[in-house]
Formats: sequence, structure tokens, C-alpha cells
Amino acid sequence: MKAFPSLSVPLLLASLSSVDVVGQERLPVIDMHMHAHHIPLDLPAGAPPPCLPRPCQPEGAATATAEESLRKTLQAMERYNIVLGFLSSPDLDIVRDWVAAAPERFIASPFIEAPGDLSPEMLRQEYEAGRLAGMGEIGTQLLGVAPNDPALAPYFALAEEFDVPVLIHTEGIGPPVPGFRTAAGSPLLLEDVLVRHRNLRVFVENSGYPFLDDMIAMMYQYPQLYGDLSTITWVIPRPAFHRYLEALVGAGLGKRLMFGSDQMRWPEKIGEAIETIE
Ligand SMILES: [Zn+2]
Repeated sequence: MKAFPSLSVPLLLASLSSVDVVGQERLPVIDMHMHAHHIPLDLPAGAPPPCLPRPCQPEGAATATAEESLRKTLQAMERYNIVLGFLSSPDLDIVRDWVAAAPERFIASPFIEAPGDLSPEMLRQEYEAGRLAGMGEIGTQLLGVAPNDPALAPYFALAEEFDVPVLIHTEGIGPPVPGFRTAAGSPLLLEDVLVRHRNLRVFVENSGYPFLDDMIAMMYQYPQLYGDLSTITWVIPRPAFHRYLEALVGAGLGKRLMFGSDQMRWPEKIGEAIETIE
């Protein structure tokens, strides 16, 4: 994982200019934000996906089992020529199952829910053994824990030491869980982390949406900071997504934006995410 896969969106965008929508093969895409049948909510099978602003009526039905999620995820990866997915879950057994089912298809990574749930000592062994190649999603904002909280320091240190990219949920939006705090999602809160870890490569879910100005400032100042375009391709109204994307590209940051589907238990959102960008 030495080469940070910042090529995913450029590849995707390149595919748009060169591919006739009808019939021609798609160029390869890297999906930098997938989950192995994981969502930080207790949802029944068939539950609709999240959407904003609430109330809203999204299309889609949550899968019932990890096997169903895997099967439908692989189908979508085939269909859209997604050659690699950055895959996380707090349950590392499921991540391992998916990697075993589709070798070379996933970058395995731990989902950090509460600091300490997956111990840094255990994760160190996984990195040393080569079984993990990413850090995150760090989803502690769902508990109101900001990126600069000292409880996360060991995870950033570990990621820098093993030179693996870090995905973090630092933005204004998130699932409707009681502990979530919008204020803990300001991209400015990453500054302490990036100053302390100059070689740490971090990518921010949804490029910090909707904290556009703060995200641009941080990306200008810290070249090791990247953004993904994930849930906002299907959670928020499409015009709002397009405005955000246009502003980031207009600011000259297009080469540091990476595609992600944030596939959780709605594999059909993978295709929707790609089509939104197209
Ligand atoms: Zn996610």
C-alpha cells in the first residue's frame, strides 16, 4: 500500500471521457470506501437506506446476511469494473471472509467504533502479519469523539508507522445515532493530527461535507490530506452533491478526490454512486 491510490477518481473520470455508455468496457475503478456488511445501526433486513434531509423516501432494501452483501457487492464490482475495494468492519472475521472469497479484490481494514474496542496491540500484530493494509473507517464521531481526541492517538501512530492510509468520518453529517456530534466533524479538528504525524496519509469521508471552505483550507495546507466522494453521491439531493464536487474540482483538488460507495448493506448503492458521478 505504498502508492496511495489517489488514482481512483481520475481513473473514473478518465473512463467517462473515453467510454461510450453503450457497450464499451469500463476502465478500472478503485472503491476507497466499502464496508463488509456493516452499518452502525441495528437495522432489519429490507430496511431502506439513509437519506437527507429527513423525512425522505429512499429506494433500496438492506441485505439480510453478510453472504448476501458479499455476493451482491461482487456482482456490482464486476458490472462496474471495480477492481479493488477498501473494505472495513469492526468484525475482522467478516473482513477476512470477504478477502478469502475474493483474493486481490479488497484492501482489508478495521472499522474503529469506540476507541479501544479493537486494541492497537492486536492491530499491530495484524499489520505485521500483512493481514490489514488500511486504517479505518475511524467512525468515532458517531460517539462524539473528535479526530484530535487523545484516545485516537495510538491509531494514528500505528497507521503512520505501517504507512497505511486512514479513512476517517469527519464531516457534518452522519447516521441518526444519539452520540453523533456535527461539531466533532469539522475538518479543522484534523489539524493537530496532521501536524503531529507529517507522514500520515488521511482521507476524509465525503471530503468533509458540507464544510467546504474548511476542507479546502486543510487540503491546501496539508498535502497528505485527501477526500472521498462516497455517501453524498446517494444520501443527499443530487444538485447539492454536484455543487460540492464542482467546488472542490474548481479549487484545483480534483486529483486528491477518491471515489467511494460507502457500501454498507445496500450494494445497489455502488452503481448509483458511480452513475451520480457520471
Ligand atoms: Zn463508511
